Amino acid sequence: MKLLLITAEDPLTLDARTRELIRFPQLTMPLLAALTPEHWQVEHVDEIVERVDTKQHFDLVGITAATPAAPHAYELADAFRANGVPVVMGGPHATLMPHEVAEHADIVVMGEAELIWSRVLQDVECEKRYSSGSHSIDEKTGATVEVLANGTRIYRCPTRATLEHLPRPRRDLVRDGGWNKWWATKSPLIATRGCIHQCDYCTIPLIYPQSRQMRYRPIGEVVADVAASPDKGIVFWDDNIGANLNYAKDLFRALAPLKKWWTSQTTMASIRDDEFLQLAAKSGCKAFFVGLESVSQSSLNGTHKGHNRVGDYRQLLQRFHAHGIALQAGVMFGFDEDGQDIFARTVDVLGDIGLDNATISLMVPYPGTPAFAKLSTENRIIDLDWRHYNGKTHVVYRPRKMTPDELMAGYEWAKMQFYSPSQIVKRLSISRTGLWWNVPRNLGYMFGLTTEVRARAAMHRKESDLEIGDWGLEIGD
Ligand code: SF4
Repeated sequence: MKLLLITAEDPLTLDARTRELIRFPQLTMPLLAALTPEHWQVEHVDEIVERVDTKQHFDLVGITAATPAAPHAYELADAFRANGVPVVMGGPHATLMPHEVAEHADIVVMGEAELIWSRVLQDVECEKRYSSGSHSIDEKTGATVEVLANGTRIYRCPTRATLEHLPRPRRDLVRDGGWNKWWATKSPLIATRGCIHQCDYCTIPLIYPQSRQMRYRPIGEVVADVAASPDKGIVFWDDNIGANLNYAKDLFRALAPLKKWWTSQTTMASIRDDEFLQLAAKSGCKAFFVGLESVSQSSLNGTHKGHNRVGDYRQLLQRFHAHGIALQAGVMFGFDEDGQDIFARTVDVLGDIGLDNATISLMVPYPGTPAFAKLSTENRIIDLDWRHYNGKTHVVYRPRKMTPDELMAGYEWAKMQFYSPSQIVKRLSISRTGLWWNVPRNLGYMFGLTTEVRARAAMHRKESDLEIGDWGLEIGD
């Protein structure tokens, strides 16, 4: 039996991601491949590095997609299905919007795949037929399959997977490609799953219900996976590796003898504990991603991210740097409390504290989140094209204190300023951390941004030409 797994990427964001100097492979499909019985021959295409050939024949194609990649994933699914190849779709968007996804797939898997994937494959192998309606398929886990009127089956499993004895992700399926031909590491893994917070715009609480009840892998198993990797670098794709400080510190102590380098994601709440940072540094942590999101405390409070305290940013960053750890911050614009002054304030504050790097985005109200529900109720969603939900190219709602155009212009201005030569020099001369990779990374962003902003301006020009053309046609008609 032949299975093709696809990590789908939207063409609008593909260009930006392929230019990234430090790239980490996604974990979902290498892990799903490891959960697949051996009599299935598995191939994997990550669209960051390869195109998908929809003319090839497989017994099953599996696609994972986040919301902005969903329309492109539908095109791929439709092309395979037109050639008689059944398609199963899962991942974030399938979990958020299963009935929409069901219009383009034979099978939809909601939520985590661990407890249900082997049953899905068994049903495909024996061409199992179910009548319309909902059926229990496993009393122990409560797993069900719902058959819709169009014949699509939606598999759900309310029981959360244990993270004990997780198989090792198939790093052999992480292939090189793209312009720079390499990944920073081919060893993606996790130590924990879930997050104890519930920020309004975040999909994690929806993708992992009861996500506040964190799950942890046995430390010995995590360490064995890290030790088995031939890579010097490791990425832990955890949503909040510092959620439980005791677990995190034990993990870091156990990792230290391996002398690897690693990065992961945590929150400000965890980095207030100095021992956490000290042990992270000793175990080889080179950088953390932390969602600072805003320099406005009222914006943070308004989106239920009050665990970030703007007044602490400078001191916490100094402690990061004292331990030789760089900070890649998530920064977003477009919260309800953001006024037009937010852009310059952000550039000033992040420059003054010596922030190493930032992933700067527009706030995205993903479907199903409290942020989407609020904007919807207030009739402020102006764009339902999921391709535009990438936080980079389009404002998809009406902000409260500015127009969509003002938000877009301010976001682009702030990004260009943050990565301007003077700001890079200012920030990195304060940081002085990991300069051998931090300098090239900042320069990479700077050069990439010029192309990115130009490309986006051209794209918006093209879109507005189309709108004018369409309008003209209507008038003419
Ligand atoms: S802290 Fe991060 S992962 Fe956790 S809910 Fe907030 S945005 Fe999501």
